[in-house]
Amino acid sequence: MRAIVVGSGAGGGTAARELARGGMDVVVLEAGGRFKPFTRRIGFAEPVRRMGLLGEEDKVSRFISAYRTTRSSEELLLVRSVAVGGGTLVTCGNMVRADGSLREIGLDLTREFEELEGCMGIATAPVDRWRPLTREMFAVAERRGLGPRATPKAVDMERCTSCGLCELGCATGAKWDSRRFLGEAMRQGSTLRSGTRVSRVVLEGGRAAGVQLEGGEFVNGDVVVLAAGGIGTAQILRASGIEPSDTLWADLVLTVGGVSKNARQLEEPPMVWLTQRDGYIISPYLDVLSHMFYRPWRGVGVNDRVGAMVKLAEEANGRVLMDGTVQKPVSERDRQRLVAASDEVRSLMEEAGVQGPFVNGLLHGGHLGGTVPLGKEDIDTMHPSSLPGNLWVADLSLMPRSQGLPTVLTAAALALRTSRCILKGL
Ligand SMILES: Cc1cc2nc3c(=O)[nH]c(=O)nc-3n(C[C@H](O)[C@H](O)[C@H](O)COP(=O)(O)OP(=O)(O)OC[C@H]3O[C@@H](n4cnc5c(N)ncnc54)[C@H](O)[C@@H]3O)c2cc1C
Repeated sequence: MRAIVVGSGAGGGTAARELARGGMDVVVLEAGGRFKPFTRRIGFAEPVRRMGLLGEEDKVSRFISAYRTTRSSEELLLVRSVAVGGGTLVTCGNMVRADGSLREIGLDLTREFEELEGCMGIATAPVDRWRPLTREMFAVAERRGLGPRATPKAVDMERCTSCGLCELGCATGAKWDSRRFLGEAMRQGSTLRSGTRVSRVVLEGGRAAGVQLEGGEFVNGDVVVLAAGGIGTAQILRASGIEPSDTLWADLVLTVGGVSKNARQLEEPPMVWLTQRDGYIISPYLDVLSHMFYRPWRGVGVNDRVGAMVKLAEEANGRVLMDGTVQKPVSERDRQRLVAASDEVRSLMEEAGVQGPFVNGLLHGGHLGGTVPLGKEDIDTMHPSSLPGNLWVADLSLMPRSQGLPTVLTAAALALRTSRCILKGL
């Protein structure tokens, strides 16, 4: 039996490995190519950056070709990674169970979480690897009763060199990414075709016969598993005549930037601690995208820039069109919540000794989900009722709501459960 898995990120990598272990002949079709991490120090670009010669954020792909940025509205930038390994290549390595909205519909993924955590190797960054100002911000958060905790990460701290550039790819291989699962799938006999973009699912007699690639080639399969991410999966479905849900969410990230002479915050892993507030998290974070490309941040050098982020669970109000364009405004309610949360962050930074001017960074989101949300009625089969019987989704698209939390572990857990349901059905 042949399974076509479209996409090789958190969901696709997990599904490919599990289906191959279950004895299926798996073909992974991935739009992106092989990934190359950024291997230089960021300081080399400082003189050009300060002169504004790096350009705007759409030029980030000059540094990391996998990066794709798109404006879904004037104020919001969406970020994704198109490469073998998908979004897992550019994460901060954070691994958190973000399953609140799944529990609400009665889906308990505890077993999958435990299994994945066991093989990803979860650890926290030792406190002696945190920069002094990061420790001070942690202490302020503790004094304020915010309950900060060290962030669980799938990063081998012995191989991590604290370059601070996880989001530009891990140059030492310390960080887990889905290529490890893909490797296991290959060893079981699976095939990976990179640089292969799927344009639509070919439906015949109410079933998926296979997929059509950009360029026209047809690839047949007994089962088709879409794991092209919140945008890619929705785009493919729409092109196949199946309406995705106009409920894309992205987990909004807004970093408050302050100044502290020689703080050298980039010399630690990003987001070493986090505190969970009502619908958002706060975490120390020097937003590299804002530092490199956002004009209002230009005046401060990399050694003196200090940041702390708000990652907000926002309204699921995005729509993906057939050509991949995304329309996603920031609602008035979310805008107000961002203002209140960033005020709280600024005050925490001030108490820790960070100085102004405080300037908010680019508003962006890179956790793309919610376009094929699971409902209560789907959880036993993990098969969204709107899809033909042998067409499945195994990525963050299944997650009904934004939670303002890291999403790789949850996307992988959803894909693991879905793959087991596929195998059971066979
Ligand atoms: C900068 C950044 C930092 C992040 N940090 C963290 C973090 O620290 N921790 C965390 O948990 N999460 C983090 N995330 C979020 C996380 O990466 C994603 O939520 C997760 O990877 C989603 O998994 P997925 O399988 O749904 O999609 P993806 O991992 O995005 O995989 C989708 C794949 O499908 C491919 N694809 C798309 N369209 C097609 C097509 N038509 N044909 C073939 N292939 C296609 C894409 O190239 C991609 O490889 C971060 C995201 C970004 C952008």
